[in-house]
Amino acid sequence: MLNKVLIANRGEIALRILRACRELDIGTVAVHSTADRELKHVRLADESVCIGGPRSNESYLNIPAIISAAELTDASAIHPGYGFLSENADFAERVEHSGFIFVGPTAESIRMMGDKVTAKEVMREAKVPCVPGSEGALGNDPEENKRLAAEIGYPVIIKASGGGGGRGMRVVHTEAHLAHAIEMTQTEAKAAFGNAEVYMEKYLEKPRHIEIQVISDGQGNAIHLGERDCSMQRRHQKIIEEAPAPGITQQQRDEIGAVCVAACKRMNYRGVGTFEFLYENGNFYFIEMNTRLQVEHPVTEMITGIDLVKEQLRIAAGEPLTLTQDDIEFRGHAVECRINAEDPVTFVPSPGKVTSVHFPGGLGVRVDSHLYNGYVVPPYYDSMIGKLITHAGNREAAIRRMRGALEEMAIEGIKTNIPLQLDLMQDQGFMNGCVDIHFLHKRLGLT
Ligand code: ADP
Repeated sequence: MLNKVLIANRGEIALRILRACRELDIGTVAVHSTADRELKHVRLADESVCIGGPRSNESYLNIPAIISAAELTDASAIHPGYGFLSENADFAERVEHSGFIFVGPTAESIRMMGDKVTAKEVMREAKVPCVPGSEGALGNDPEENKRLAAEIGYPVIIKASGGGGGRGMRVVHTEAHLAHAIEMTQTEAKAAFGNAEVYMEKYLEKPRHIEIQVISDGQGNAIHLGERDCSMQRRHQKIIEEAPAPGITQQQRDEIGAVCVAACKRMNYRGVGTFEFLYENGNFYFIEMNTRLQVEHPVTEMITGIDLVKEQLRIAAGEPLTLTQDDIEFRGHAVECRINAEDPVTFVPSPGKVTSVHFPGGLGVRVDSHLYNGYVVPPYYDSMIGKLITHAGNREAAIRRMRGALEEMAIEGIKTNIPLQLDLMQDQGFMNGCVDIHFLHKRLGLT
């Protein structure tokens, strides 16, 4: 096993990784910004190193500072968590060149999946179903682009190859707007991602977001852990996730899961990963692959009983995967509500001192959060302060359990989105299942 892991992240996910390390008897190093000295995992870690100022680029994105901290503490591996440097191929490369293990895929895999045009090409070759669209990047011949859009059928969406976080996309409804939309997206993409390359896809009007979790050891073994439905989104940010996805049959799960597993084997993928799909009219359409642990991984853990972070650490240590597809059984239903420090109506972030916090408990209730009484939520980072997960025999029971847990949860001193989550847990549309990705926007009166 690994000797000592440096956790290059903060908040709930840093705590999540620390807990897994402890169970595996792995030493832990917390790195933190000057604003994060009081984080719960920093206090619990065996060692801690301050790596820079409060702004992310001074600390959590500061590659030399993180690598120096690993050298200083003699860590054997670096776990990037999610966000920050987790999908930065240069970081993965520098970690390994400096003699540490990167808990994640090879830099090559990260780079390949980070470029969406390349990722789609790889997936097409691996027979993963993709959204109909251009083969590769768009050229600069307006007539050719018009012909392509007409062939795909309007509306189409122009997307930046280097895009991420829901940015660098433009929907086009008519030919008259096509050329301008392509130019605008290219200009924005160049400025935002340093890469002007864009591609075209059919714009799906009422898709659901369904993703497949995979684990692959880079030694020829790969399995999938079923799907998650993450259609409840605001501005492309997921706020509720669940597993399994309502209405997906075991046969559909087996089929799409097998395709993802085959793609992992073909790429010789190493680590945990997620194939993201849009799902419409019974069909899956690949949009991207995330080469890291996801925020919503707990719902999969709850229904499979498998600890994804421990699996990551074992793979990083070079152990072959011992689980086989036949070992994976899905039990009941799990729902996750992301808890954000924000106004539940205006969504304005609400940092500040948590004067009192009371977490719910009981059978089938899981809280992944770094909050404690007196903790001050800093204004510099993402507003997510925790995740509440419930698990029960079926979807209805899991939702009921979530309602009770949300009612029990009390966070004082800052505003949170708990009232919105409670509202959604009682929404008839959500309770019926199968909402599409525009559901929340429509409900909030945004579109
Ligand atoms: P990012 O990496 O920025 O998250 P994605 O390719 O994953 O980009 O797309 C983000 C979101 O944009 C999707 O979850 C979906 O809501 C919307 N989207 C992307 N492609 C399409 C499409 N072809 N049709 C409809 N919506 C799309």
